Amino acid sequence: MNETIRVCWMYHNIMDLYGDKGNMMVLSARCKARGIHCEIETMEIGQPCDLCSYDLLFFGGGADREQSLLIHDLLQRKEQIASAMAQNTFIVLICGGYQLFGQYYIAADGTKINGLQFFDYYTEAAGNYKRCIGNIAIQAHLDDQEFTLVGFENHGGQTRNVAHPLGKVLSGFGNNAVDHYEGFYNGQVLGTYMHGPLFPKNPEIVDFVIYKCLKRHQPNLKYTDLAPLDDTLEYQAKTCMLKRLEIG
Ligand code: GLN
Repeated sequence: MNETIRVCWMYHNIMDLYGDKGNMMVLSARCKARGIHCEIETMEIGQPCDLCSYDLLFFGGGADREQSLLIHDLLQRKEQIASAMAQNTFIVLICGGYQLFGQYYIAADGTKINGLQFFDYYTEAAGNYKRCIGNIAIQAHLDDQEFTLVGFENHGGQTRNVAHPLGKVLSGFGNNAVDHYEGFYNGQVLGTYMHGPLFPKNPEIVDFVIYKCLKRHQPNLKYTDLAPLDDTLEYQAKTCMLKRLEIG
């Protein structure tokens, strides 16, 4: 195989909570194991970057402080991100990154940060609700695939009005402390509160992302066309967590 996936790791130096960089390490390793060339480039505040030239944009989580630091820069890139979306670039957003693609985020100190407003969801700091912290498991639905995913969440923000959640919460909180749905997925943008990191704990989601990136150049590709890898250890770890959460 001679295939390449080009990835932009947005704000890599400040949006990297709870091991989010592990997502990039595992993405790269699983591509390598299949002979797929994975080029990961990083982008920082103020750094010129052609966001339309990538197959994948990855934006990790960060605290209120980092979100406030980068928002001005992010809003300036709105047109480019929209044009990347129009060219089928796949986008993975974790927690703080996920919040900033919605209407707004009201931080713990009451500051309102206007988001990119690509989607209708909005996020407000916990208020009367407690912070959502701990291990989480969800039943996720992506295109025609069903996955049980595990992760770790830690967010004060309560995200509401999510038109297309990524999945149903089996244990933990998800988008907010009341409605038992987690994340966002519209076929091209995947937003989630699952740190953990997400990819090392859930090999099927990494493969799904690889598949979506390759599909940009090979429209007939199917998820099941990806060569299987030995995921024995990964699934043992996942089973252990699901048992701990008393699922299955
Ligand atoms: N600052 C946001 C919140 O607490 C995001 C935190 C995160 O990325 N884990 O809701």
